[in-house]
Amino acid sequence: MNRGNLFVISAPSGAGKSTILKKLLTSLPNLAFSVSHTTRAPRPGESNGREYHFVDRAAFEKMRENQAFLEWAEVHGNLYGTSRKAIEDQQAKGIDVFLDIDVQGARQLRDSGHPGAVFLFIAPPSLDELEKRLRGRGTDPEETVQLRLNNARREMEDADRYDYLVINDRLDEAVEILRSVIIAERCKARRNPAGQPLDLTALGFTAQ
Ligand code: ADP
Ligand code: 5GP
Repeated sequence: MNRGNLFVISAPSGAGKSTILKKLLTSLPNLAFSVSHTTRAPRPGESNGREYHFVDRAAFEKMRENQAFLEWAEVHGNLYGTSRKAIEDQQAKGIDVFLDIDVQGARQLRDSGHPGAVFLFIAPPSLDELEKRLRGRGTDPEETVQLRLNNARREMEDADRYDYLVINDRLDEAVEILRSVIIAERCKARRNPAGQPLDLTALGFTAQ
């Protein structure tokens, strides 16, 4: 069995990343979403273990000391981290894993030369539209909206460092583009160091 791929996806908050990921997860098999740890408080409707593992700062710092995170970062004043073990377990089962992480976390993985990771960036069509979406979502107080909009300017500067850039203007189109990327990456059978060669005998192609 081939190891699962690692897809790293970043976007300014409010660009539509969670909406797109939810649609992707229901439309493709063998795809899992990595559930990060965070010190941020849950939003209405979020539940522990589904969107995030919600932990306090002390618990987060303990995990960080124990090298439990593949990457971590402070984003909009809260700590976020990806559990190393959860990712490795899924990949070992041949499942492709999606990491929804910020540009700092993505940079850490790129700099550490994480083998075979594919980097995707989702951008909003404009700053005005991003503001509308953040307000329309109705989950954040005004000062948080302002903080996220300010951070968006800086985050957009990283967009060109990613392997793929998707503008989320029409939702269905953005989902379709990402689906195509995943399908194409799965066809790169040998990109993964643990990828298996084709079993020609099993396919009946062995020379006589
Ligand atoms: P993120 O996960 O990137 O922070 P969300 O997925 O929560 O963003 O999306 C932010 C808001 O924008 C939500 O209310 C969502 O329904 C809306 N949204 C997402 N994609 C689109 C789109 N293509 N067109 C219009 N609204 C969108
Ligand atoms: P939110 O609070 O809106 O769910 O997420 C805020 C930001 O934190 C988003 O850009 C999201 O991608 C990022 N994020 C979520 N989990 C992680 C993580 O484990 N590591 C890093 N570096 N960023 C994360």
